[in-house]
Amino acid sequence: MAGSIPAVADLLAAARFRFGQEFGGDAPQVAVCAPGRVNLIGEHTDYNQGFVLPMALPLVTVVVGKQVPGLDVTVVTATEDADEPRRVDFVLPPLGSPLPPLESPRWANYVKGVIQHYRGPPVRGFKAVVVSSVPLGGGLSSSASLEVAFYTFLQQLHPDDGDLVSKAVACQQAEHSHAGVPCGIMDQFVSVLGQAGHALLIDCRSLEFSTVPLLDPALVVLVTDSNVKHRLTGSEYPSRRKQCQEAASTLGRDSLREASMEDLQEARSRMDDETFRRAHHVIQEIRRTLDAVEALKRRDYHQFGRLMVQSHESLRDLYQVSCSELDQLVSAAMEVEGVYGSRMTGGGFGGCTVTLLQASAVHRAILHLQERYSGTPTFFVTTASEGARALTFDL
Ligand code: ADP
Ligand code: MG
Repeated sequence: MAGSIPAVADLLAAARFRFGQEFGGDAPQVAVCAPGRVNLIGEHTDYNQGFVLPMALPLVTVVVGKQVPGLDVTVVTATEDADEPRRVDFVLPPLGSPLPPLESPRWANYVKGVIQHYRGPPVRGFKAVVVSSVPLGGGLSSSASLEVAFYTFLQQLHPDDGDLVSKAVACQQAEHSHAGVPCGIMDQFVSVLGQAGHALLIDCRSLEFSTVPLLDPALVVLVTDSNVKHRLTGSEYPSRRKQCQEAASTLGRDSLREASMEDLQEARSRMDDETFRRAHHVIQEIRRTLDAVEALKRRDYHQFGRLMVQSHESLRDLYQVSCSELDQLVSAAMEVEGVYGSRMTGGGFGGCTVTLLQASAVHRAILHLQERYSGTPTFFVTTASEGARALTFDL
């Protein structure tokens, strides 16, 4: 089934309604939203200081709320997939004291992390409701959209200096310190700075970025959620990060961004095979991302698609973060006429694939994927969307 993407206005109405229910008929005063994202190419390159090419999605997290006197915070999430309880109360600590993460519910730690790293005036008490259309844990970055939405919410209550890159970095720090996920900058960056009709080429070393038009009405970005989440031990991500650091230090570089394939080949005997494969993926993927941007600018979708498939194969064979369900979805997509390319997107081990295809092939592709996939996929026919923003209630 093509998953319908709810309009932001409908999410806002639901959030407002829920706020009234939770808080004795009270009405929220401010509303904001921040998008999830899909990464077109450049996977596992962000924490290696490389390039990534994501776009913001029309799937968003909405936060509505208002300030209250004192230091009491109440936050409710309407998302049933979040761990319980879905309503939390806590008291903000005195100025300058830390707001430590708690064992449960885990979701509230994203909110606490954002409060801790907020760059504006001291945060005061508030109550808020969260409603989201970004699937949780599906590789479309519901976590960054939650962080960035909350940061944007706090900006409405106590404005900071408005620096957008610093905002993304603060949200990334929130995920590091409070969710315990040593993520790169991509997700928060594109959730803050995404632009409608454009993908974002981000240099994760300098934090400079440029926009790449993605406006062709004959072209569609199809996101397919495999609906599998192989949590495994949860150690894969930190272990990949560690291997990349080890490879970089064997090469005498600060990061794999500074290394070439020649450097890596030369150092092959000085690292184990697995570390070599990890670094091989990263170094080539950084290059591939830049090649893909050039192809997109030329509207050479065939070349862009070939690079997507190469990226997938590299993630599967060298970086080893794919799984049979994602491989199946990619192979099936590539059987459809009018599909340019397809790959797993996000951290891996489940989650989503992203497929670039002709608009005229979407229906055919969805039917084929449904038929060929062993599980039950969800489809999102997406467009490159805007980053985080304040909303007005008369949407
Ligand atoms: P992804 O970012 O790919 O969706 P993560 O594992 O990084 O996956 O983040 C998912 C976690 O983020 C959820 O388990 C939950 O703790 C939190 N989260 C995201 N969105 C919401 C939401 N709307 N309400 C509550 N928690 C959320
Ligand atoms: Mg995440």
